[in-house]
Amino acid sequence: MCSSRGNSTGARRHARARKTNAAVRCALRERTVCRTRVRDPTTRDAAPTRSASQAVVVTMVGVDTQTKRVLLAAPRGYCAGVDRAVITVEKALDLYGPPVYVRKEIVHNKHVVTTLEKRGAIFVDETDQVPEGATVIFSAHGVAPVVHEEAKALSLKTIDATCPLVTKVHREATRFASQDYDILLIGHEGHEEVVGTAGEAPEHITLVDGPDDVVNVEVRDPERVVWLSQTTLSVDETMETVRRLREKFPHLQDPPSDDICYATQNRQLAVKQMAPECDLMIVVGSRNSSNSVRLVEVALEHGSRAGHLVDYADELDEAWLDGVTTVGVTSGASVPEILVRGVLDYLAARGYEDVKPIVAAEESLLFALPNELRRDLKARGMSDSMRGGEQVAQGADSLH
Ligand code: SF4
Repeated sequence: MCSSRGNSTGARRHARARKTNAAVRCALRERTVCRTRVRDPTTRDAAPTRSASQAVVVTMVGVDTQTKRVLLAAPRGYCAGVDRAVITVEKALDLYGPPVYVRKEIVHNKHVVTTLEKRGAIFVDETDQVPEGATVIFSAHGVAPVVHEEAKALSLKTIDATCPLVTKVHREATRFASQDYDILLIGHEGHEEVVGTAGEAPEHITLVDGPDDVVNVEVRDPERVVWLSQTTLSVDETMETVRRLREKFPHLQDPPSDDICYATQNRQLAVKQMAPECDLMIVVGSRNSSNSVRLVEVALEHGSRAGHLVDYADELDEAWLDGVTTVGVTSGASVPEILVRGVLDYLAARGYEDVKPIVAAEESLLFALPNELRRDLKARGMSDSMRGGEQVAQGADSLH
């Protein structure tokens, strides 16, 4: 999705957001450097629960609002689940040799997919496109149990690169289904993650595609109903959907922990802090990347006067910079940093050389590679570690 709003509605929204962020702007004007813990005021009713390692921190850097500048979001780019999935394919290619089959895009990023294709990965839409007995990797978005059964029937060797935080939602779905709950799964119809989660308990799960879909939702027993969600949604929109669901079903239960993952929340939080200062927000990411598309929406909702999603710097349009002093730059959770570098170089060549980081959170999480791959790597005497990471969580349980 690519969108811009330079109209009067956008200007009014900008003005409102500027008022809300008066304290931040005051600090910016006074060229102070402030480092403090904050709680996101826009998610008051379902404030993210973060471990100490994910503590939210705001760093405000002194800026001159009269000259061209870039505000660069942190965190941005690769999350722990994407990093693990991409390394899984790279290590599988090293270990087994090409071709290695991958069901669906390993992560939703054009550059990542084409780079892995050049190394010998073959991306397929369905399991039955993989030759019998070959190796297939399941993407970070997760698969339904039926896909595992199809792979078994074809004697495929499978490596499951599902993000552990998606697996956590699958487990919640099977647990609530086993207790005969109606599960309201908030997410985008047709998204691979939603298809995979819904496939865990199709007879118990009803998809709720945003606040306006609530009116269509029916359940068997309004006293035995729980909501879960896709991991990459807009936090604010999801809370609005939950609010409407609770109006309709007062006994609606919350999930045991946040389903919208730490990476999605942190990237949105950084954008919310930057947006009121931005004439333009550039989000690097692919159009089929849910969390990237959400970042553009969040930027516009929180005061950026325009916002665009681009895969590469050469998609940037000179006209977008007309009259622009402050450009915000961020990237989705499936975007390698080299693509952000390209955007910063493009901007620097046009006078936006002053780059100020806006740090909303610190992340240091890494997930261990899938067990089946680690076992084979060890058997061949090859390294099974992630790139130089120290904090390697074995699964989602370590986060919640
Ligand atoms: S965005 Fe979140 S759920 Fe998705 S792969 Fe990254 S960490 Fe996992």
